[in-house]
Amino acid sequence: MLIDSHCHLDFDTFAPELDAVVERARQAGVGGLLTICTRLTEFDRVHAIAERFEDVWCSAGIHPHEAASEPAADAARLVEFTRHSKVIGIGEAGLDYFYEHSPRDRQRAVFREHIVAARLSGLPLIVHSRDADEETVELLEEGAKAGNLAGVIHCFSSTAYLAKRALALGFYISLSGIVTFRKATELQAIAKTIPGDRLLVETDSPYLAPVPHRGKRNEPAFVADTAKFVAGLRGIPAERLAEESTANFRRLFAKAGQ
Ligand SMILES: [Zn+2]
Ligand SMILES: [Zn+2]
Repeated sequence: MLIDSHCHLDFDTFAPELDAVVERARQAGVGGLLTICTRLTEFDRVHAIAERFEDVWCSAGIHPHEAASEPAADAARLVEFTRHSKVIGIGEAGLDYFYEHSPRDRQRAVFREHIVAARLSGLPLIVHSRDADEETVELLEEGAKAGNLAGVIHCFSSTAYLAKRALALGFYISLSGIVTFRKATELQAIAKTIPGDRLLVETDSPYLAPVPHRGKRNEPAFVADTAKFVAGLRGIPAERLAEESTANFRRLFAKAGQ
């Protein structure tokens, strides 16, 4: 069994066939899906999907792209969302200095509130980091120092520096379809070095479909292709990678099992 640790089932592209999308994932051996919130103003929509399917959970948070457009939400407000049983993580939150859709200082402030919310709620932080490795590390280390911070760097596509520092903080690393791309040699090298008990897999669907679906719309069933590719990279059977990554997900997102 596999788990898609990060997908966006609330996006419009899935709306006409959501049942079929979830069913195809099950047929592909995906026994759990974590659908990720990017805007608190859309939380109800995301949460309704998690409520509709037994094997779907959700998160609560503000994506760095939306840091400026969403109403301000402090840590206490974020924690309120975690009273729902299907909410098992905080995020996605972080820094995206590549697109920079929101001013950097605003992204940092919003990210900080999410870090505090993760610590207060005891739920894992789902981190989005692009072209912002050093500041991501700085803020995570600041949070970890304050205590009780766990989480995952999702759709990891950063440098070995971020991987190393995040692992040192006890964080997990989640690999998406990017790792299957022919030119992703640096990422493939990092993927080999992540400890077996810290690795997750995800689709980040509808984006970033793995080979052999590259260029098409991505969907949770395709996490099986990424997992198979990563197992090959690491020289282990696909079943073992599935077992390990699922156990890792269950350990990190312990609320999913309650
Ligand atoms: Zn992201
Ligand atoms: Zn995402």
